[in-house]
Amino acid sequence: MKIICVGRNYVDHAKELNNPVPSEPMLFMKPSTAILNNNKPFYHPEWSENIHYEAEIVLRICKNGKYIQPEFAESYYDQITLGIDFTARDIQDRCKAKGHPWEVAKAFDHSAVIGQFITKEDVDVQNIHFSLDKNGERVQTGETKDMIFSFADLLVYASQRFTLQVGDFIFTGTPAGVGKVVVGDELTGRVEGSELFRIQVK
Ligand code: ZN
Repeated sequence: MKIICVGRNYVDHAKELNNPVPSEPMLFMKPSTAILNNNKPFYHPEWSENIHYEAEIVLRICKNGKYIQPEFAESYYDQITLGIDFTARDIQDRCKAKGHPWEVAKAFDHSAVIGQFITKEDVDVQNIHFSLDKNGERVQTGETKDMIFSFADLLVYASQRFTLQVGDFIFTGTPAGVGKVVVGDELTGRVEGSELFRIQVK
């Protein structure tokens, strides 16, 4: 399986990192070894001084798809959850400055937190409300209506490059409010008020 992620899918987040708003989705991938689920702790890597959380709605692909047509895109995922795209911002900034790929800053072990899945019928996918708390304080809130590229747009675009397979995950981008984690922090992710993960940084 693979994890496809999109960068800069919320205007306010692109602005907070001084990035231009993209005209087409900016995709990158994480390997299966990046997954961290079942509320297991996140062990802060020693090679970064600035690991950031990015709370994102995650889609679970339920059928194989290549060149998915827009009118059928919604049928290619059946469950959603909240996840975290952990990012070593200091390493990423260095990669960007050199024009190098990002994998070492984005695709490292346990960089893809995945919460408990819920069926998509339980939410209004056009307008999902989600939030992330750090140590009990709200640090990010998002609404999927504010995405630059909708879930359908992302599935259509991604499947023109990478065949989507059952069990793949799509991380759909983070809203504003990203920030640093340190050892001892607790992160709690919610969709429509329901807690889908709670993890400790160790
Ligand atoms: Zn992200």
